Amino acid sequence: MTKNSICSLDIEFSDKIEALLKPPSPQQVQEYFAQLIATRQCRGLTIKQNGDFGKGVYADIEFREGELVLKDQMLVGSQHSSNKVDCLVCSYCFRFIGSIELQIGRKLYLQDLGISSSKECVLETYSQPSKQCCADDSSNEDFMTDNDDLVACTSSSQNDKIPLPKEVIQSLMNGNLVLPYSKQFSLPTVVSCPGGCGEAYYCSESCAKVDWELFHSLLCTGERSGSSCREALVKFIQHANETNDIFIPAAKAISFTILKYKKLKAAKLEGKEQCTNPNTLEDSSFSMLLEAWRPISMGYKRRWWDCIALPDDVDYSDEASFRMQIRELAFMSLQLLKESIFDKECAPLFSLEIYGHIIGMFELNNLDLVVASPVEDYFLYIDDLPYPEKEEAEKITRQILDALGDDYSVCCQGTAFFPMQSCMNHSCHPNAKAFKREEDRDGQAIIIALQSISKGDEITISYIDEDLPFEERQALLADYGFKCRCPKCTGEGD
Ligand SMILES: [Zn+2]
Ligand SMILES: [Zn+2]
Ligand SMILES: [Zn+2]
Repeated sequence: MTKNSICSLDIEFSDKIEALLKPPSPQQVQEYFAQLIATRQCRGLTIKQNGDFGKGVYADIEFREGELVLKDQMLVGSQHSSNKVDCLVCSYCFRFIGSIELQIGRKLYLQDLGISSSKECVLETYSQPSKQCCADDSSNEDFMTDNDDLVACTSSSQNDKIPLPKEVIQSLMNGNLVLPYSKQFSLPTVVSCPGGCGEAYYCSESCAKVDWELFHSLLCTGERSGSSCREALVKFIQHANETNDIFIPAAKAISFTILKYKKLKAAKLEGKEQCTNPNTLEDSSFSMLLEAWRPISMGYKRRWWDCIALPDDVDYSDEASFRMQIRELAFMSLQLLKESIFDKECAPLFSLEIYGHIIGMFELNNLDLVVASPVEDYFLYIDDLPYPEKEEAEKITRQILDALGDDYSVCCQGTAFFPMQSCMNHSCHPNAKAFKREEDRDGQAIIIALQSISKGDEITISYIDEDLPFEERQALLADYGFKCRCPKCTGEGD
């Protein structure tokens, strides 16, 4: 299979690629997650590797209905490129930052420049239907619907908007115009990227530092970047924005592994005298690469071009050529990434096999990154004010709402890999679900018990809309690569 590859690294490093892609042993899985659970202080869960069915998450304690089961910090994630117009969030924790005025002013300013999220229309063809993870009380359902409209096409909603004068937009952005009651919705002050790219922003110095050390130092386009060619990096990002922004989290996964490898190596060199035998040195550097790769190795992976769902507008007879095109697209992206951050000691990471599997890991992940917008909360608050205050406030806020139109409440959306949540198996009759509560204001995945869960029970979530008829459920789940055998399906199926 690798013999006829378009990527020479696939052939050169075939044995190392095989070692990297080998699923971790049950013991490695147990050890990795035991450590993760200990450092995160999430209680009451164990992860087990159970034979043919892969990993599963089990309750160690009882959970009551409605209780928090898991808060899962993402391993790697990124905001959708098109969403960056709508929401200014911390590039590490994905909290909204700045102020209500800045969020609104910046969005209107960028829309005025003609930068819109309409690219989503093109991107949508390539992406698998993904499970939304927001709260499903009525107000949030509204905001998911609003988003669907936006995704369908931004330009359509443009008609109902009444533009604000440029001076008003400016004064929103520079803080001269303070909206009534906005102090109650204060957001963290914006911290710029220490590398000077002017593209990544943070909620705090600590988020900026952690992101720099884990991911961003190699992928920053600023002057302090660790990239060997910033021009190529800019081209890589541009290519991703124009074709499919799933390449961005994939690049972050590679950057994460390289940076971790370098840290392991530095620690080793510090601890020991220089090793003189070149063979042992090479062996040990590959074992360090394997160790650096361990967190990513825990995610279930298939090649992107093999697992991506065939878009509705592509005929089955064209499937082979569609998959070939997807593979070529990934290869083009990889060449640009290679030009920008290639590291000889981590060369196998730059093979198309590895790149394709990393992208596939994000493609198969069933949970999106979603963070509710404080701008929505703000306007809901104004709407709920008692009569005289409301009328007074709306003298100012009405024109702003008119300028924003239907998409005033767009939430932060992106792609992420959540290590523990990704071990949760699917059921069409799940006992838990992804659900963002009022207080969940960052990019973590939140899993809540739907019913009481006993000690020893497996915790399951639904990857799809479980109320769909049997045939449709099976078709959607086939995109995830399995046939559902949950009690509901075995009852309805045969
Ligand atoms: Zn942050
Ligand atoms: Zn930067
Ligand atoms: Zn089922």
